[in-house]
Amino acid sequence: MRAETREHLFDVAVIGAGVVGCAVARDIGRRGMSCVLVDRADDVGDATSKANTAILHTGFDAEPGTLESRLVARGHQLLSDYAGEAGVALERIGALVLAWDDDQRAALPGLREKALSNGYGAVAVLDAHEAYRREPFLGPGCLGALAIPDESIIDPWSTTIALATDAVRSGVDLRLETEVVGVTTVAGVHRLETTTGSLAARWVCNVAGLGADRLDNIFGHAEFHVTARRGQLVVFDKMARQLVSSILLPVPTQRSKGVLVAPTVYGNVLLGPTAEDLDDRTDTASTADGVEQLRAAGSRVLPRLLDEEVTSVFAGLRAATEHRDFQIRAYPEERYLCVGGIRSTGLTASMAIAEHVVELLGSAGEDVVRLDDASGATRFPPLGECQVRPYRDAALIATDPEYGRIVCHCELVSAGELRDAFESPVPPRSTGGIRRRTRAMNGRCQGFYCAATVVSALAAARGIDPRHLLGLDGGQS
Ligand SMILES: Cc1cc2nc3c(=O)[nH]c(=O)nc-3n(C[C@H](O)[C@H](O)[C@H](O)COP(=O)(O)OP(=O)(O)OC[C@H]3O[C@@H](n4cnc5c(N)ncnc54)[C@H](O)[C@@H]3O)c2cc1C
Repeated sequence: MRAETREHLFDVAVIGAGVVGCAVARDIGRRGMSCVLVDRADDVGDATSKANTAILHTGFDAEPGTLESRLVARGHQLLSDYAGEAGVALERIGALVLAWDDDQRAALPGLREKALSNGYGAVAVLDAHEAYRREPFLGPGCLGALAIPDESIIDPWSTTIALATDAVRSGVDLRLETEVVGVTTVAGVHRLETTTGSLAARWVCNVAGLGADRLDNIFGHAEFHVTARRGQLVVFDKMARQLVSSILLPVPTQRSKGVLVAPTVYGNVLLGPTAEDLDDRTDTASTADGVEQLRAAGSRVLPRLLDEEVTSVFAGLRAATEHRDFQIRAYPEERYLCVGGIRSTGLTASMAIAEHVVELLGSAGEDVVRLDDASGATRFPPLGECQVRPYRDAALIATDPEYGRIVCHCELVSAGELRDAFESPVPPRSTGGIRRRTRAMNGRCQGFYCAATVVSALAAARGIDPRHLLGLDGGQS
């Protein structure tokens, strides 16, 4: 049965527009169900999905037999294909799990077996000589490594924005700055109370990240509790990129994948993350202790990295739970789906989680047959260093000189790209949104030179006083 009044009764309300919620809404929208996607933030991907290490995992080290293991492996395949279609930057640079003592070296064959149990067979144990041949700037004392050639780095921001853009183009109603504060269900219709009014839907899909357990409680379930596990990271300047070719991983522990060194598709190098359990689910502060811990770990792996300039530090919060698997459940009789506990691998697994959700809807009797016009992704502006960015595209500049007018000189972002972002189906509403869509203000000066231009352009696009965006008007406009 379809909703009779599309405007007032949605087939599905998806709560949470992180990378997973956007992927879910996109898949639902492309199958002809009416869908509303709500988020309390002013942008898609503004919570955990904007602050991660941006690795497209193979799932080689997942717990075999878990839902996470299956969805990470499938997600790797789906997102690799989607990145190619949508023009999202992705580099298959591979990873090395490095052993620094005898116990870690002894763990490598077991990790290889685990990878095989997870259906990934391309791993190889390397001796120290080969590890140093591949990564000559490694610190002294490396005893060997496990090579995982398909671990990749991806543009995490464009991934979420591209999925959201496709969702909107498929008819999904995206409502930002809309927090769900309560739910009542009468005669099979969920009425969501939100900060911008009420919404009615036949199904609710809870993809609320750090808030997923609280929403689950509102629906009368208590299957898991979320603990914010903070991961602090240091971003090194582009001069550091020459020091490292692949993703450098430690031997993982039960609790965390550990501190890694990884290039980014934007040409920087990341060091992190920490793993700190917090009571406060909003605490994304970087701390002196955290940075010191990262520097200590980095000094062993890649000592010369610590001599390089730091561009920024940031932290993200994983939605960890007491369970060691994703918490995805369907309650067909309640027309409620919970997609919680998506902790360290949600970027990778996002599209597979969406596929799984659609299967669950299908098993519950919903018509989720793929539509004829459901193929084809939106092409997304190139932000990766492996792509031809507009400032390097002479033919593009010849057709539109705005692509040759540089606004951000650190990241070489053009006025044409800013304009395109404002005119896109999911436009930025904040300087953070512009950073994620264009890279402007993300370079070594962190917006010192371009912030005035960027803020003026944003204010003009939103029709508001620039002083409001800078918090200089006391919130008047
Ligand atoms: C430090 C760190 C490193 C990571 N590295 C990787 C990696 O390399 N590779 C990888 O695959 N994964 C990685 N991850 C994990 C990945 O980032 C997450 O699994 C993924 O972003 C989770 O997406 P999500 O959509 O479930 O949650 P979120 O992105 O948190 O989205 C949930 C959304 O729900 C909204 N919301 C919550 N409550 C409400 C409400 N009541 N009403 C309306 N909206 C609400 C929030 O505003 C938020 O936007 C990492 C995570 C961290 C923290």
